[in-house]
Amino acid sequence: MKVLMVASECAPFVKTGGLADVVGALPGALAPLGVEAHVLLPAYPPLFPLLPRGKDVAQFDDLPGGPGRLVAVDAQGLKLILLDMPQLFDRPGGLYSDEHGQDFTDNAIRFGALAQAAARAAMGAIDGFSPDVLHAHDWQAALAPVYLRMAGVTQPKTITTIHNIAFQGRFGADEMGRLGLNTDWFHPEGLEFYGDLSFLKGGLAYSDKITTVSPTYAREILTPEFGMGLEGVLQNRAQYLSGLLNGIDTEIWNPAKDDALARRFDARSLNRKAENRAAISERFDLSADSKGPLFCVISRLTEQKGLDALLGAVPHLVERGAQLVVLGSGAPELEEGFRAAAAQYPGNVGVFIGYDEPLSHLLQGGSDAILIPSRFEPCGLTQLYGLRYGTLPVVARTGGLADTVIDANVAAFQAGVATGFMIDAVNYEAIEVAIGRVITAYSDTKLWRGMQRAAMRHDVDWAGSAGAYVALYESLAG
Ligand code: ADP
Repeated sequence: MKVLMVASECAPFVKTGGLADVVGALPGALAPLGVEAHVLLPAYPPLFPLLPRGKDVAQFDDLPGGPGRLVAVDAQGLKLILLDMPQLFDRPGGLYSDEHGQDFTDNAIRFGALAQAAARAAMGAIDGFSPDVLHAHDWQAALAPVYLRMAGVTQPKTITTIHNIAFQGRFGADEMGRLGLNTDWFHPEGLEFYGDLSFLKGGLAYSDKITTVSPTYAREILTPEFGMGLEGVLQNRAQYLSGLLNGIDTEIWNPAKDDALARRFDARSLNRKAENRAAISERFDLSADSKGPLFCVISRLTEQKGLDALLGAVPHLVERGAQLVVLGSGAPELEEGFRAAAAQYPGNVGVFIGYDEPLSHLLQGGSDAILIPSRFEPCGLTQLYGLRYGTLPVVARTGGLADTVIDANVAAFQAGVATGFMIDAVNYEAIEVAIGRVITAYSDTKLWRGMQRAAMRHDVDWAGSAGAYVALYESLAG
């Protein structure tokens, strides 16, 4: 079974969020199950060093945005196919926006080119390569199934995976022509979204199957509250929609082998976490004699993540004797809010505004609990890392958070299966209630250790979901 994955991010090469982790890890989990996955992604500057050792496998003169070539190269255990189009992808700044955070004005062309190159690769442009399934991830890849359908092609079969329905790839209708899209398909059951062109809607309307990254999110996006305007097209296609939980890379995220920790540990040596907490305290100037738990946040600072509500609960958290460290970047008002909290509570609140992968490992290693009060969360990865590191997740009851954390209610305690704490609503009062429950549980060391061990026993690897993806691919490929 051969699968062509198409995506705009892939860890460890280029990442802005969980999408990259999934695209980077899923191929490795599929390989032992007999699936050969190739990942097609743009050749951004961090990937340039790979180009000279790759092999030219296709050349196109007329993609949206001009000529481009495909270069196949194996790296970090992945079979990559890089779309080399320097006129679109050789730029300073991020993957989607410039140094000032402004979206590139030609993102429709950039990712239209990616999708069209993928469709052509799927239709035989690469000698000797004919995938059974084209698997498109998120809006940046979602036109690939559309181009195949427009070409009248029914092999390979197609899947679009929604990692976050808030990001839809919405552009002016005038892009249709530049992207070579048939204007007959511009209607509300097709590519049109309130007068605009929507890449994601195209993928949802024209793929053979649709998946998202947790069973709960798969149900939620059928409703107006979570569907962000796409609930209608999803309801029409509900029989083709399913939710498959993300896993994590348990080699990279392994507390027994993690080089980013001050002290490694496992479920039998949880007292060693204290040395990691000490390292965090030193780095953030937190007072070392706190008796309460250390909470952490590792997150994009956006409205989605509910951190505005958390800000309201910080005084309560500190008054109850707990501490907080925040690692994140994003909305200026949230960055400012957390900086102000750190200034107001020196010794008890520490903040690092920025992106820092090793620090994210240290925070998972040394914190007692991780706060994730998201308004919606398709799957979420940081609660899975928390489970793996005995850092108990404190999460809103939504999406993948609801599917992966077992609340410490009386019944779950008695059964010995509780792994975290649910926040009942995204407002500061509800977060304070949850923080209070954490502090009470933490004061009972035996109980807390039991919860940590239950958390660390929880399966967070890809094994289960990789099998589910294979079953899906097989059902499509016949
Ligand atoms: P999303 O994809 O919505 O951002 P996820 O929880 O699915 O949320 O994935 C976020 C990923 O990005 C995780 O791997 C998390 O550890 C990482 N991350 C988020 N913010 C930071 C940061 N400031 N520094 C380091 N890693 C971060």
